[in-house]
Amino acid sequence: MRSLVIAPNWIGDAVMSQPLLRLLQKKDPEGTIDVLAPASVGPVYQAMREVSEVLGSAHVSGKLQLGLRWKLGRELAARRYDRCYVLPNSAKSALAPWFARIPQRIGHHGEARIGLLNVRHRSPKPLPMVEHYARLAYPIDQALPAAVPDPVLHLPAARLAEVRQKFRIEHDAPIMVLCPGAEFGPAKRWPPRHFAALAALMSDRWRKVQILILGAMKERPLATEIAALSGQPLRNLCGETSLSEALALIAQAHGVVSNDSGLMHVAAAFRRPQVALFGSSDPRHTPPRSAAAQVLWLELSCSPCFERECPLGHLDCLNKIPPARALEALSASLKLLSAGSTDISP
Ligand code: SF4
Repeated sequence: MRSLVIAPNWIGDAVMSQPLLRLLQKKDPEGTIDVLAPASVGPVYQAMREVSEVLGSAHVSGKLQLGLRWKLGRELAARRYDRCYVLPNSAKSALAPWFARIPQRIGHHGEARIGLLNVRHRSPKPLPMVEHYARLAYPIDQALPAAVPDPVLHLPAARLAEVRQKFRIEHDAPIMVLCPGAEFGPAKRWPPRHFAALAALMSDRWRKVQILILGAMKERPLATEIAALSGQPLRNLCGETSLSEALALIAQAHGVVSNDSGLMHVAAAFRRPQVALFGSSDPRHTPPRSAAAQVLWLELSCSPCFERECPLGHLDCLNKIPPARALEALSASLKLLSAGSTDISP
């Protein structure tokens, strides 16, 4: 069987769709799985062993673009897919597979997709995202198994070495990664002063530690502020790495501290020791799926509020997580998972 997956647009969602691909491959080991993905998530799928080919979809943006989607549909038709899994919930995301006349077009009930999809799943209750996507691997009338695998990403050692060399990362010193961004909004961002204080604590605890700040170009000012407040020689790589390079740096990090963000899910899928800081969102819905992950969530009476900005104006859910607590959580995560050959003992 030839399968096509229409990817979601967010890094975290892309990571959380990996178990679906794993289940599909398990059911059809001889089949192929291609993924149609925008550049914003393509590298995530390139780090999945189950994927045969990642097809770029840069020319199709969030707009309707009917003509472009028809053209894309004709290109997909030439590839003769047997089935297509449409992960975004929009009607427009289901148009190209419909134009391509792919026989089985599978997805969740979404906006006006009757006809566009011919296998539509409806969950009786909201599921965590991993299970939400994994559901599509099974017939509509079959219950989801109790245990769905956690997302796993993989990059070859040669790629890790190449990226390490490009960014002049020392081989014999621990790498700690801070990811202070969160696309959703400030109510998911631990304050810069806390990241800065944590960086200073890390430098005290681990000699010769290399602290990298990763994120997009728009997070660069945030990282500059953290570096200035910390008084430490932090490497601000926000906007300097491609997503593919950021994945390779996270994959070899000895520890990752992030907000609830796409890079948090990346760190979990590479099984890195990590601390995930949750504010207005809910770790029960989108947790980092890794036994080594430590989640810090205060579970205040007002949380989760799922707001982009704190409606109460104080952001206590994040402000009240002290840097020392994040350091201890990271130490606990390091103990749970071997971080490789580099000595990271205090
Ligand atoms: S209302 Fe509560 S959970 Fe929401 S952002 Fe403010 S402090 Fe956080």
